[in-house]
Amino acid sequence: MNLENLVRPNIWKLKPYSSARHEFDGRADVFLDANENPYGGAFSRYPDPLQRAVKQEIAKIKNVPPECIFLGNGSDEAIDLVVRIFCDPRKDKILIQPPTYGMYKVGADVADVGIQEVLLKDDFSIDMSSLKSSVDQTVKVLFLCSPNNPTGNLLPRQQIREILEWFGGIVVLDEAYIDFANDPGWISQLDDYPNLIVLQTFSKAWGLAGIRLGLAFAAPEVIALFNKVKPPYNVNSLTQEKVLTAMQNQREVMIQHVSEIRLEREKLAVALKLNPLVVRVYPSQANFLLIQFERPREVFNTLKARGVIIRDRTQTPLCEDCLRITVGNPKENQLVLNVLNQMR
Ligand SMILES: *Cc1c(COP(=O)(O)O)cnc(C)c1O
Repeated sequence: MNLENLVRPNIWKLKPYSSARHEFDGRADVFLDANENPYGGAFSRYPDPLQRAVKQEIAKIKNVPPECIFLGNGSDEAIDLVVRIFCDPRKDKILIQPPTYGMYKVGADVADVGIQEVLLKDDFSIDMSSLKSSVDQTVKVLFLCSPNNPTGNLLPRQQIREILEWFGGIVVLDEAYIDFANDPGWISQLDDYPNLIVLQTFSKAWGLAGIRLGLAFAAPEVIALFNKVKPPYNVNSLTQEKVLTAMQNQREVMIQHVSEIRLEREKLAVALKLNPLVVRVYPSQANFLLIQFERPREVFNTLKARGVIIRDRTQTPLCEDCLRITVGNPKENQLVLNVLNQMR
């Protein structure tokens, strides 16, 4: 892979903004370099632009060196950056495989970058022959999501491997739900695939959606591009502190919650299949279920009237009559089941 050929020329040439804290590397007691307020208190200082303490902790947990890690204001920032780093507006394209996560399309639309769509197959695996015939030189970035949102399935490892070996552009593999899956994911394979970017997030398994922290794992050369293009202080001090304590003190709790959610997912699936309104519960490796219903509108509205909001996916390709329900706590899941059982 020749990285220079994949990156937009203006980004390749870009001289990044160098913040005061970027240039400082050493020991000091008096900081008069960044126009901060000396009376401000605990949060008067700008945060570490490279989030070094946080990355060190992530490196330990994930067994990936810090220079292979990018942290952003949610995965959404990483998605936005990938599109802007690699795709020239009105010239290059991304490729997505609906039904999938909506932010890839939004990221491309905002950047005025074209979108090549190749539907997944009926079993939500990749349609390799359509994919291969849809790719040309203008497709710079190919998005994969595994476990996929909203379908819940893992993409077959063999298909992911085939794509990584065949595709000449950047492969973004979104693993937002990997902690709920029976699969190790791909970050241990980064050395083998210089064109691979793996996205993860603290929003799902870690239960920290509110702090907005997303991760990208990739070769150091690719991470350097992210660091060049990102806003200098893209992850604030509150978020960095919160995630550090979570990783240091709450990891066992997180693992426990993930296993409870996985258990609840299976219990909910079994119970739903007994309801006559349910046509099909798709197998899930994530923390949600995709369910095909008789009368999905009525199900959605009845739940809504009882104060339960779920996701309507009836207009999504291959998801006809489907609703997506996040696996909640036992009480929340029981409420969903009660409402459905009262409907029949
Ligand atoms: C929830 C989700 C994310 C997480 O996005 P954040 O911006 O990190 O909260 C990323 N990808 C997919 C597919 C998701 O469903």
